Amino acid sequence: MSRAGLAVLVVVALAGSACHATVPPRAVALPIPTPSLSPSPSPSPTPAVATPLPAATGGCPAAPPRAGPRADRPRYTLTVDIRPVEHVASGDMTVVFTPDQPIDHLVFRLWPNGPVLTQEGAHLAPGAVTVDGSPATPSQPDPTTMTVPLPRPLAAGQSVTVSMPWRLTLPGNVRDRIGDDGPAVRMGTFFPLLPWEPGVGWATDPPTTAYAEATTSPAADFDLTVTAPDGWTVLATGVNDRPGHFSAVGVPDVGLSAGMFTLATGTTDGGRATPVAVTVGVAQGLSDSPQPYLTKVRDVIASYARRFGSYPWPSYSLALTYGPGTSGIEYPMHVMQGPGTLGRTTSHELGHEWFYALVTDDQARDPWLDEGLASWAEYGYEHTLSAWIATPMPADAKGMAGQPMTYWNAHASSYYRGVYAQTPQALAALGPPEQVDCALRQYVARYAYRIARPPNLIDILTQVFPAAPAVLARYGLHR
Ligand SMILES: [Zn+2]
Repeated sequence: MSRAGLAVLVVVALAGSACHATVPPRAVALPIPTPSLSPSPSPSPTPAVATPLPAATGGCPAAPPRAGPRADRPRYTLTVDIRPVEHVASGDMTVVFTPDQPIDHLVFRLWPNGPVLTQEGAHLAPGAVTVDGSPATPSQPDPTTMTVPLPRPLAAGQSVTVSMPWRLTLPGNVRDRIGDDGPAVRMGTFFPLLPWEPGVGWATDPPTTAYAEATTSPAADFDLTVTAPDGWTVLATGVNDRPGHFSAVGVPDVGLSAGMFTLATGTTDGGRATPVAVTVGVAQGLSDSPQPYLTKVRDVIASYARRFGSYPWPSYSLALTYGPGTSGIEYPMHVMQGPGTLGRTTSHELGHEWFYALVTDDQARDPWLDEGLASWAEYGYEHTLSAWIATPMPADAKGMAGQPMTYWNAHASSYYRGVYAQTPQALAALGPPEQVDCALRQYVARYAYRIARPPNLIDILTQVFPAAPAVLARYGLHR
């Protein structure tokens, strides 16, 4: 989440949803030492970014070549028909799934049916399921989980094709990842999603009651076709290679925003062979101009590419709609932000393109791997690390940075400080920020398109900072 501008007091909205999201039922006053604060960097081609990093510095070798997506990743074909007049979206989904372990059933997560979105009025209803063309008999052991028995066990490396229609009820006027604001619709984590963790199995974490995410899903390919009302623009995960069609390679999820948008487009150097195409859309009725967001996005992507390795995909889109309020919600290649969020929200959510979208994690079990590292990226870009280091921890957050969402559900008012701020505090305690970034470049290169776990990161940090296990343990971060 990223939030609002910094002032003597930063009011952190515990967002609803993913990243941070939205405006919380409870706002937390976060004291930040004024003197060390610097204003948000003004967008300029010359980034006010963290110190440029050398390719390798003492004790931190250069990153290896980046891993590619697994060959056996799921392949989704997804159609979406948005009908705002009816407050509904529907479509068909087909996925070809190849487990790396033998299985006798499939699991899909129906995240719109979690407690927060359900209370807001969202509902995802899958239709008749077929497995390799034959009807299946799914069951729903809980609202966010659908299991589908297989007619015969599937060996590791064998593929199965599963198809189903789906229908999603869009709540109106809510500050969340699924919503219909009138002039714009947001849809994120909105279809039946395979929670497979290669090498481990099905991720069945419970949904969170906090404004956060609890999803786990592997990098997959998506062929996405979206139909929206005449005159609407669709911004979504994927390369918009023809009208209404998006192709995404190696992404764990899909988000989209559609509506009457004022657009600004450009390109930036994401460290790739070709420039990254950037599109910013501002929904009708909002007073923001897309141009400053475009300028900042271009600058942040170029900055993070230097710090963490190249931006992973050919495009990035940002949609400003009313619903995310003072915060943002991250998806691979696409972010949803509320009005007036040019400042730290833009840089925070972009941090998630590396930490969550590229190197993903179990967001229910290890939220520090995505939120803590996105905050590390943000604080470096915004020059606010020293201020956040000085932020005191509430008693129920101190030494608890590694706790899962099941802990933070009951300590929601301390979640931001406990995970978002405390993780960067722990990393800063290891040594120079440039060396931490160097270790993160190695982490990104090695675990790209993978679901990382705490030992993956901590082992790399230990190679750069031998005392890392003991230092991180003080903050509650363990292998
Ligand atoms: Zn976040």
